[in-house]
Amino acid sequence: MPDTGREGRPSDAERLAWLDSGTSYFAGRLAGHDLDRPSLLPGWTGRHLVAHVAANARALRRLVHWARTGAETPMYASGEARAAEIEELARLSPEALTGLVKQTADELRSDLGTLTGPRWAARVRTAQGRLVPAAEIVWMRAREVWVHAVDLGSGGRFEDFPPAFVDALLTDVTGLWERRGQGPGLVLRPDDRQRSWTVSAPPPTGPPDEEGVLCEVRGTAARLAAWITGRGPAPDPAAPPVGRWL
Ligand code: ZN
Repeated sequence: MPDTGREGRPSDAERLAWLDSGTSYFAGRLAGHDLDRPSLLPGWTGRHLVAHVAANARALRRLVHWARTGAETPMYASGEARAAEIEELARLSPEALTGLVKQTADELRSDLGTLTGPRWAARVRTAQGRLVPAAEIVWMRAREVWVHAVDLGSGGRFEDFPPAFVDALLTDVTGLWERRGQGPGLVLRPDDRQRSWTVSAPPPTGPPDEEGVLCEVRGTAARLAAWITGRGPAPDPAAPPVGRWL
């Protein structure tokens, strides 16, 4: 895999390490957990969540196939097909689901090993419709396993995430809001970091505020990441309401 790491940007090797450590972390939170309990995601039990993580690995394999062959194979045929697959897999026994999530993760990991040189730069489309280089598949999966490990509700915490991965999440979410131009204008200034993350305010509807309109929010980087991914309360009661992440 070409190493495209630049200052402040994770390298491909680092993202692959996050994928692997996140896969292990997810498996650890899953071990012995009662999948019939509700997950932290509205309307989903642990079964639905594990079914989704398995289906996500299958979907990302389609993107690897696309990158390798050039034959356009989207993650999901449709939103309905995605939901139907989750419902179907969620009916499996906990043992079968645990086996499936491991098997699909192994298959995806092995597929990623088949991508070489320029294929990492081949364009594929995310579930949100964005064209990205195939190297992003690694990040998409790393994000999926770490964050959904928390969603299982079995003790997973953002505080357990690798610090550089937390930073990359802050970059990912603020970058998405910036591209959408949705605001809210804010500066995330983690107490435990030397840097900050900024989201521009949406175009002003009134006279510009001389002090600027960016609200500064402080907290630990992990708490800020939990908040902006919709997994935790705002670390500061004065923080503005924020939109969805994905
Ligand atoms: Zn997901």
